[in-house]
Amino acid sequence: MAKFAGVDYLLIDSLFSEQELLVRQTARQFVEDRVMPIIKDCFRDGRFPKELIPELGHLGFLGANLEGYGCAGMSNVEYGLVMQELERGDSGLRSFVSVQGALVMYPILTYGSDEQKERWLPKMAKGEALGCFGLTEPGFGSNPAGMATKAVKDGKDWVINGEKTWITNGSVADVAICWARTPDGIRGFLVEKGTKGFTSSELHGKLSMRASVTASLAFSDCRVPESAMLPCAKGLKGPLTCLTQARFGIGWGVLGAAMDCYETARQYSIDRKQFDNRPIASHQLVQEKLAKMIIEITKAQLLAIQVGRIKDQGKLDPSHISMLKKNNVEIALDCARMSRDLLGGNGIMDEFPLMRHMCNLETVKTYEGTDHIHTLVIGERVTGIAAYK
Ligand SMILES: Cc1cc2nc3c(=O)[nH]c(=O)nc-3n(C[C@H](O)[C@H](O)[C@H](O)COP(=O)(O)OP(=O)(O)OC[C@H]3O[C@@H](n4cnc5c(N)ncnc54)[C@H](O)[C@@H]3O)c2cc1C
Repeated sequence: MAKFAGVDYLLIDSLFSEQELLVRQTARQFVEDRVMPIIKDCFRDGRFPKELIPELGHLGFLGANLEGYGCAGMSNVEYGLVMQELERGDSGLRSFVSVQGALVMYPILTYGSDEQKERWLPKMAKGEALGCFGLTEPGFGSNPAGMATKAVKDGKDWVINGEKTWITNGSVADVAICWARTPDGIRGFLVEKGTKGFTSSELHGKLSMRASVTASLAFSDCRVPESAMLPCAKGLKGPLTCLTQARFGIGWGVLGAAMDCYETARQYSIDRKQFDNRPIASHQLVQEKLAKMIIEITKAQLLAIQVGRIKDQGKLDPSHISMLKKNNVEIALDCARMSRDLLGGNGIMDEFPLMRHMCNLETVKTYEGTDHIHTLVIGERVTGIAAYK
């Protein structure tokens, strides 16, 4: 059995079906057996644990909530629970799975040709082919609409020029989805590794997401055939709908990081003795932090379940996801910071997962729409006025 028993203050498990609990248990066991023993060293060494990919595929975690082409066809709540357990292991591992499933397999399934689906999806579901999603550019992060990367038609081919940065899986991917401006608006292109004019280089010096690969991509007169274009993705809506899928997974995933921090601090505060050999958990200021954490985690769990249920019912609006992503990342970061505090000096050591989660969550707060941008999405939803510019 997995050592981690979960965090359930409010009988939240009663809101899940048997099947959902089974899927969660499978993911939890995988993380306990395969991720926990290696993740500290991966983070320390700046190494992505590529050896876990076949098992992630075998368990059906890649493109888990997609149907057909060898995908597991999980419900969105089941998928969310998988993300939660994976991110209890590490945000970098969950990011890998999010990118592969939500940012690469989802657009191929939704916007791709039959040939593109047949070619990539079965292999990607097994982890035999990896993908990355190139939207962000050095000059355009929060505002991808301004992107400078261009694709122009030359005979039957497209020629792409531009640069993408901060691309998760960028240098290990077999295929990159490159979003580029064309005379017809923003379009997505499947650019295979090894294509002339396409290079990637890994970014070094990250103090966050150290167990994840991040790279920049360069396209210099990179020529791809017409068949490389995703035929049904037209305009910014294409990449934005993919981000909605990925942000959903993030909203669930960070709950896992928050739970790991909370549970580590709760146990430590019971074990650690100070002042007359009393557990630090007997002090009111310590209990206040634990109470704050469990309240916020519980509220965040309920938010995730509700967003998951309305996604499964087809009633989801992207602004719902903004609330989920913004709130849950914020509370996960708060939990990481409070937990670190409760461990005193030990809190800064990588023997405990707190600083690793905290550093990772700084990225999660920034990517897939920063906390500010999601605040503005919510603001626009409730006022009808867009305040981005
Ligand atoms: C580890 C990592 C992995 C990533 N993986 C990917 C990936 O796989 N694919 C991909 O395409 N991208 C990826 N990203 C990029 C990520 O999505 C961007 O970093 C993010 O969108 C923010 O863009 P920026 O870094 O350019 O920040 P900026 O857009 O320059 O923002 C800087 C600050 O200004 C604020 N700001 C900007 N505009 C406004 C506004 N209108 N109102 C209020 N505040 C504003 C922001 O909130 C932020 O606080 C990744 C990033 C990281 C760090």
